[in-house]
Amino acid sequence: MVHENCGVLGMFSLNGHNVIPLVIDSLRALQHRGQESWGIAIPGKPPLKRLGLVSAAASDFQSIIKKFVSHAAIGHVRYSTFGKSTLENAQPLKVKDLCVAHNGTIANVEELSTMVGGCTFTPQTMSDTLIAAQRLVMHLADEGDMTKALYILKDEMVGSFCFTFLTDDGSVYAARDTKGFRPLIFGHHEKTNTYIIASESCALSAVGAGIKRDVTPGELVKMNRNGIEMQQFSTENSHTHCAFEYTYFAHPSSIMEGVNVYEARKKIGLLLAKKFPVEDADVVIPVPDSARPAALAYAQELGLAYEEGLLKDRYRKKGSMRSFIEPHHEDRVEINRGIIPIREVIEGKHILVIDDSIVRGTSSASIVQILRASGARKVSMIVTYPPIRYPCYAGIDFPSQQELIAYQQAREEGSNMDIASKVSKVIGADYVAYNDTLSLSNAIGIPSEDLCFSCSTGDYSPLGIKPIFKSRAQTKGED
Ligand code: SF4
Repeated sequence: MVHENCGVLGMFSLNGHNVIPLVIDSLRALQHRGQESWGIAIPGKPPLKRLGLVSAAASDFQSIIKKFVSHAAIGHVRYSTFGKSTLENAQPLKVKDLCVAHNGTIANVEELSTMVGGCTFTPQTMSDTLIAAQRLVMHLADEGDMTKALYILKDEMVGSFCFTFLTDDGSVYAARDTKGFRPLIFGHHEKTNTYIIASESCALSAVGAGIKRDVTPGELVKMNRNGIEMQQFSTENSHTHCAFEYTYFAHPSSIMEGVNVYEARKKIGLLLAKKFPVEDADVVIPVPDSARPAALAYAQELGLAYEEGLLKDRYRKKGSMRSFIEPHHEDRVEINRGIIPIREVIEGKHILVIDDSIVRGTSSASIVQILRASGARKVSMIVTYPPIRYPCYAGIDFPSQQELIAYQQAREEGSNMDIASKVSKVIGADYVAYNDTLSLSNAIGIPSEDLCFSCSTGDYSPLGIKPIFKSRAQTKGED
């Protein structure tokens, strides 16, 4: 099955300004949320879709801007789990006169597919976004109103969503699920009187737009020639924002729920320095890129040296990409090889590495190996996110439970310290320490009950499900 865990965008200019140049720049700013494909939809045309990075199409931007002229548009950047990076899977998708872009995961897609008459997709090509869009179109035909259609659909779906929609009559909509797992923010570009909805505020700042506010859980934003209208399609008043966005996924410049991601990451580092002070470390080094602010604050708090001892080779084929979201093993290896150590910083020293997370352990083992090969005397690692022992059903593409190193090493309940000591042996480090959910929520500044930690705690009550964990082969439809 193809899950979509991506970045979405919706724009509407009340001045009738062509928003496509803004869309392109905003999508580039959301690129960290998905690097496999991207797309743009305007009313009355099939969506434009491309594989790869937005910037890879830079030589075509002028012709795209000429061909795609509209005051209303939606856009998408995508990464998949293990579906092929085909144009077919790229978004926006179009179902009848509705274009859809989705960030999230619909966990009960098989069930939902029976409501749209079943589907002929193989598990590898089934798209949760397509099924949800088909069902939404059915409700829209019956109800004649997006709020009412979403009101019904939200009870049929399990999972997370931030949608942007575009109708052929030129209306743009954006909706956030009732728990607010994934981020969605609303802003305004004054010069062109364009209202913008985006996964992250970095997409607003990239085009000089200001932030209005976060879209609230269960809220629908409608943008058309009559203006902007907000409606709740759910009165449920709870919030479980993804904690992992703050440590890894979101751009450091973004502001989510009033919290700047960079500041949150620094606070995480500061609290980790108090909790796990490795005072005999010679130097603190971040694993680039997400852990950098935490490593800086950790070093500052303990008065330790901070160095950039590991650099990403940005000119390598996949050098600037992010490793765990790469669905294919050979690509992850390629990315890890793109880490360049600086021997002069490392040799003969006790290195304290700060990393944002350990998922499979592949990257961490590779980092430790690189540091040792560069002459590190001792390697300690502190991880800003708690042990990931459970799959995510709300929009982040973790692998199957069997592949998660924290699960492999601690199948029975154990403290973070027990897990850390087992994981440190596997990845070859001298010492590993993990953050915990309470310290992390304190650092973010959002109460833990308003954050999702299901991948760490195994408590899926925010989703209202008790998942049956599947093997990777089962998930891929190979069993
Ligand atoms: S399970 Fe983990 S990754 Fe998924 S939404 Fe919750 S905190 Fe985020």
